[in-house]
Amino acid sequence: PGKIVEIKGKIGVVDYFGEQKNVLMDFAKAKVGDYVYAQGGLVVNTISEREALEILEAWKDMFFALKKADEKLSVIEDIPASQKLLAILQKVNLGKPFVKEELLSLLRTSNKDELRLFYENANNVRQKTHGNACCVHGILEFSNVCEQNCFYCGIRKGKRLKHYRMSSGEIIGAARYAAEELGFKALVLQSGEDSWYTAEILAPVVEAIRAMGVLVFLSIGSREKELYKSLYEAGARAALLRFETSNEKIFESVRPGTTLKGRLELIEYLKKLGYVLATGFIVGLPNEREEDVVNNILLTKSLKPEMYSFGPFIPAAGTPLVKHALVDKNLLLKVIAIARLADQDSNILVTTALETLDKRAKREGMLAGANSLMINITPRRYKKLYCIYDNRADNNIAIKKGIKETIDLLHSLGRAPTDLGVHIAR
Ligand code: SAH
Repeated sequence: PGKIVEIKGKIGVVDYFGEQKNVLMDFAKAKVGDYVYAQGGLVVNTISEREALEILEAWKDMFFALKKADEKLSVIEDIPASQKLLAILQKVNLGKPFVKEELLSLLRTSNKDELRLFYENANNVRQKTHGNACCVHGILEFSNVCEQNCFYCGIRKGKRLKHYRMSSGEIIGAARYAAEELGFKALVLQSGEDSWYTAEILAPVVEAIRAMGVLVFLSIGSREKELYKSLYEAGARAALLRFETSNEKIFESVRPGTTLKGRLELIEYLKKLGYVLATGFIVGLPNEREEDVVNNILLTKSLKPEMYSFGPFIPAAGTPLVKHALVDKNLLLKVIAIARLADQDSNILVTTALETLDKRAKREGMLAGANSLMINITPRRYKKLYCIYDNRADNNIAIKKGIKETIDLLHSLGRAPTDLGVHIAR
């Protein structure tokens, strides 16, 4: 928790051990002097001073030790590199914006030393803009029924699959366990595009989870605008909706019957409604060129999201793309590092798909500029049925084990699971 030290209209300033972050006060009735939890830059809960001081006392030493460790891991070593790369990286210090050609050139980095230097620079920018804060959300996959037929996705309509739909009671129960027993302050509710879940069903679920002092994050695909509006009114405040690819042709070839324009319109609409936005793309779709990857990063930036979410394409059994090639882990690390350099104060997620590609990639991604993670809290019997791609890294990991692994990783990197605040200029 942090303490509110100032309120300017809708914006509050929260102090965490002397470090101050801006947050949106939103609907939490907090005043100066109150102790609060914030997530995604929104105040989600207030707690008593006694409880807050107890927690802060337990955290104090650890907090400063972690900060020190992070600073140590964020130095840029003296690594030999070409003049060309050095000139591009130098732009960060000069505060100059990158042109597309430079981002393409970064994407083509292949020399081992140069990659190291590139990642270290991105990690250094992450440390300077965000300190050691790391956003950790829980994700609950509540239905694998989907009405879309995306070529890449393992829960597409055209695939034979054992289906499940969690009832309202089950969703609320799983969320309560995550919030009350495990301490999550933000939960992503993800599903296929399943019109069985109407506003009448989902709004009370959102209200109930919101009442637990949790930020409700929706990831329900291209559903109706009215549904998103009702769920905002019910208390959902964040939405994860990737545009998947900035290349119209690729988009239409892998998402039959839908358009990029329509997806982008919905993303803009969600922002207009006031949702905190997480968006991004898949890396490695068929016919994708290097330029598309850079365009994907630039399109994400232009949408001004609070969080970047992108991951590698991973083949899924029973889909048209099952035989399509896997992408190289370094490509993903480069995309993380480019996104960090091109949009310095962004929040960048390391996704489960990247971890699925390579067990070490979670750690490497966090050291290449990423500052956010998600932990799967879907009940085990459902998790294995939510098979958007094969061999998911977290498939056989119990929730508590997943949390322990994440906390251990964060500690080894000197990161703390605290709120990242909100960018007021956005
Ligand atoms: N139905 C929702 C949520 C989908 S799952 C929606 O469409 O937004 C969340 C993300 O998983 C998708 O946005 C997509 O980018 C990703 N995904 C789906 N299949 C994938 C695959 N085979 N490999 C990698 N990522 C995949």
